[in-house]
Amino acid sequence: MAKISVATEIKQQVNMPDIINRYIVAKPRHNRIPCPFHDGEDYNLSYKKGFFKCFVCGMSGDIFKFVSSYFNLTFAESVGKINEDFLLGYSLHEKPSYRDQLKMIERQKALRESQKTKEHLEKEKEDAYWKLFDEVALYEEIIQSSAPKLAEEDLKPQFIEALHNLEYKKYLLGLAESERWGYA
Ligand SMILES: [Zn+2]
Repeated sequence: MAKISVATEIKQQVNMPDIINRYIVAKPRHNRIPCPFHDGEDYNLSYKKGFFKCFVCGMSGDIFKFVSSYFNLTFAESVGKINEDFLLGYSLHEKPSYRDQLKMIERQKALRESQKTKEHLEKEKEDAYWKLFDEVALYEEIIQSSAPKLAEEDLKPQFIEALHNLEYKKYLLGLAESERWGYA
């Protein structure tokens, strides 16, 4: 298991009160202690479940920040120290097994595939929208150019057909538009 995921797991098991009880001698008052980072005497460092903050020096962070700053350790070392001191028993140095690595690769591949499919579908929708858009424009053009100039003139068949098609394509375009802009 990688360090980061161990750290995430550790955070679910060890919280700030645990850390304070374990490493700080001063008795807390209402979730506050004298700040060890600026050597304060007043109870200015406040902490909650997973987080601490000193209102004087501004030092703040999670359990790992506290432990690494207090003991002057790196992040990884602070993970190791909490793991040991709280007897959590995570193995920090083991490399992931071949099977776990394969699983991870499979998961990443599946994620990429689903992303591609999504992009593909979106592109298809986008293309379909612009195709309808062009068709509507085309039928409008046909209607304009084949419209009867005089009232008594017979309607040309392409005019009637274009009128028909225009209605239908406009309807489809309306649907596509409402989907595109997110209203119905
Ligand atoms: Zn402070």
